[in-house]
Amino acid sequence: MIRFAIGMIVPFFVGLAVPSATLAQTATTADVATSSDVDDEAKPPTKPAWAIAVHGGAGSISGKMTPQREAVYHAVLRRALAAGTLVLADGGSAVDAVEEAVRCLEDDPLFNAGRGAVATIEGTFELDASIMDGNGLRAGGVAGIRVASNPISVARRVMDTTGHVLLGGPQADQFAVAQGFGSVSQEYFFTPKRFEDIQQRRAKAGLPPLENPTTRASQGTVGAVARDADGNLAAATSTGGRSGKLSGRIGDSPIAGAGNYAENGVVAVSGTGIGEEFIRHSAAAQVAWFIKHADLSVDEATRRVIHDVLRPDDGGMISLGPVGPPIWQFSTKMMSRGMATADGQIVTQVGSEP
Ligand code: ASP
Repeated sequence: MIRFAIGMIVPFFVGLAVPSATLAQTATTADVATSSDVDDEAKPPTKPAWAIAVHGGAGSISGKMTPQREAVYHAVLRRALAAGTLVLADGGSAVDAVEEAVRCLEDDPLFNAGRGAVATIEGTFELDASIMDGNGLRAGGVAGIRVASNPISVARRVMDTTGHVLLGGPQADQFAVAQGFGSVSQEYFFTPKRFEDIQQRRAKAGLPPLENPTTRASQGTVGAVARDADGNLAAATSTGGRSGKLSGRIGDSPIAGAGNYAENGVVAVSGTGIGEEFIRHSAAAQVAWFIKHADLSVDEATRRVIHDVLRPDDGGMISLGPVGPPIWQFSTKMMSRGMATADGQIVTQVGSEP
């Protein structure tokens, strides 16, 4: 697959100065629902316009979110949006766009995916990821992978080449290596903040401290949803899981229907939060069921799952339907997120604003 020159478009995204009041207003989910409802009634159906949204995880704000740190989050989210936009604006597919956007977030140590993944209680790194193509309900995932810097691309390969939807453990690592995905050592994933966190959890559990290499700050599972100009929907989600998890624990992110889902004509969803709850409730698929069987809008269905089905503080989602802009919902204190649409709208938010 062609890798795009992100640097060419990033300055445009990063340099775009839009007043924050305008951004917050634009991204308000109620506004989004209202405007798309009006559009649906007023206009005959037209060829769908492309759109993309990304998230960098839901949770509480850990550490001090200084203006400088916040600016870095905005810049990285915009870079991920730019990576997806380059694909979509060029007539590329939604599935390529979500893979590119998530790769970008996996490469940044700020997030709990790829490079900045959280550690297990043993201090190892076991990563989960999945991708879903709404065109034909094609899906691929990897669980507990230890050697790939970009688990989302291994998940894509599972989808495209194996006829399976999920590979796990050492065999997933073997598959990644056999498919030519750069194999990295576990040191690649070490970040200072993650290690500190594990040391504290081990002390609490009465376990001896681990020997520590280094640390860097990071936060949040990552994900993307996209719609291409042909109306295809796709979703991708990637994570290190929950900090201090048992080795072998698998979360919702690699599971189609739990933390990730895409179905053409219905919705694409990427979730973040307490994976066990997302699995118990088939959270991402439930958004689709509410749309298909209860006639809810994408916004209403996402809201219903986050605020009524899941518990308070369980997490958040980004969703995108066959028409209209992306939306997001979360019940945690914050979720970093962003969206870009074919009409030139670009929004990134990192705090608790709607
Ligand atoms: N959902 C992820 C998991 O449970 C964690 C997260 O989104 O923060 O593995």
